[in-house]
Amino acid sequence: MGLGFIPLGVGDAFSALRYSSCVAVEADGRWLLVDCPHPIRKVLREGSAPSGAALDAGSFDAVVLTHLHADHASGLEGLGYYAHFVLGRRPVLLAHPKVLDGLWAGLLEGGMSEVADPATWKSHRTVLADYFDARPLDDAGAVRIGPFEIECRRTRHVVPTTALRIRAGGRVLGISSDTAFDPRLVAWLAEADLFLHETGEGIHTPYASLAALPAAVRAKARLIHYPDELDLAASAIEPLVQGRRYEVP
Ligand SMILES: [Zn+2]
Repeated sequence: MGLGFIPLGVGDAFSALRYSSCVAVEADGRWLLVDCPHPIRKVLREGSAPSGAALDAGSFDAVVLTHLHADHASGLEGLGYYAHFVLGRRPVLLAHPKVLDGLWAGLLEGGMSEVADPATWKSHRTVLADYFDARPLDDAGAVRIGPFEIECRRTRHVVPTTALRIRAGGRVLGISSDTAFDPRLVAWLAEADLFLHETGEGIHTPYASLAALPAAVRAKARLIHYPDELDLAASAIEPLVQGRRYEVP
């Protein structure tokens, strides 16, 4: 029982040191993948090997997508094709309706809208539903998948983006996804037992804003999606280590 997670990547969009941020969440032997950067099978393999979890594309009850930026969503084409042609299955994909609105036409259609028979080169059109079982998250309440109940809340970002609270095993894990500093979002996340928060300059949340939070809030926070330049040893909030397994206390 309980709720655990493995940060498979902890870097920001420009990191040369780490994979883009994505998280495998586990309860009762079931797994949820939060965000899906390319190359997702390599990210899964390398991120889960240190803990012995041996995750691969078929390991998950669902993929939860926070938004369409490439460092969070660029692995979906590979995952969709791999699941379709190799695993013969259609992964469940959960996201806010505003994220789902742009998913096919704005991200996947260019690379996935036609498949061809290699013997004849006859091709036919395909649609999102050929590859994914897409289901909406709901601003108004939790959506259940397997042992997980997932709540979402819009963040301050340049494209529609949601933070998450994931409840399972009697615990709640919060994940900020990408956001400018938003004290109300931090308060929502801090209702969880533990929450992962991004940091960065520009449109992101400055480290100094998080470091200035009350000690009780900082104690529940862990850093993810951090820039290569961040001084990890000096951080007032514990930075997550890629590939390490954590339990939600
Ligand atoms: Zn983003």
